[in-house]
Amino acid sequence: MTKKHKSKSKSKSKSTSKSTSKSTSKATQRSARAPGSLAPTLVAYEPGRLAINRALVVVAHPDDVDFGSAGTVARLVSEGVQVSYCLVTSGDAGGDTSRATPEERAVTREAEQRAAAAELGVHELTFLHFADGRVEVTLELRRAIARVIRQRRPDLVICQSPERNYERIFASHPDHLAAGEATLRAVYPDARNPHSFPELLAEGLEPHAVATVWLAGSSDATMFVDITKTFERKVAALRRHVSQVGGREDLDETVRHWASSAAARAGLGKKRLAETFRVITTA
Ligand SMILES: [Zn+2]
Repeated sequence: MTKKHKSKSKSKSKSTSKSTSKSTSKATQRSARAPGSLAPTLVAYEPGRLAINRALVVVAHPDDVDFGSAGTVARLVSEGVQVSYCLVTSGDAGGDTSRATPEERAVTREAEQRAAAAELGVHELTFLHFADGRVEVTLELRRAIARVIRQRRPDLVICQSPERNYERIFASHPDHLAAGEATLRAVYPDARNPHSFPELLAEGLEPHAVATVWLAGSSDATMFVDITKTFERKVAALRRHVSQVGGREDLDETVRHWASSAAARAGLGKKRLAETFRVITTA
């Protein structure tokens, strides 16, 4: 709690120096459209604006959370938020050139994801073991995610956007779209409705309403998180996915370019880095 309050006051003094004026900031919380502009205006993430004690990240594959949100996860953890992950697949169809069987690859990639999570201070991971490359929005997947939501009881869920981003086609892998849609359906209504999947109640899992969802990889981002201070940890986490990025010398440069482009869109100065999300109020 003390940590949280400290970071709250720090962020407030920081945010006043940003180009987004206070009034615009409030006005753009929901619509995020600047007057007369088609481009969304990104508001800054401010610790303490929402009471976030627990956060759950749901993604399709190992490494998705690290490419999309690791800088943000590191920030949340440093602010005292208890973060856990839910991986829909274990990445058994991951694009490496080894001759490993899908089962062997899944074991490797789960270990890599646990190591990457540990770099950020995350130690609670759930693997749902759906088949990589074949994720669909099924009732079975919705129930599995709703189960994890009821177990972890997060205030915030971070997941992938269910909408195709035509500007960054690789962010819109079909598994990502399906995992994102299934997660939103699990957030509303499945996890909170006692009559959805009554078998979960029978397992002793009480309904839980998630207050906020942040969509990663959205072309309609509404909020940015300044990850300048946690960027190195994001890269350290990514490097743990040895089977996927082990030989990539340009990894730091590529990810830095993305984060710096996001910071530029947010109106931050040069050398600043950011991750962006579309914020959805789900309480
Ligand atoms: Zn992926």
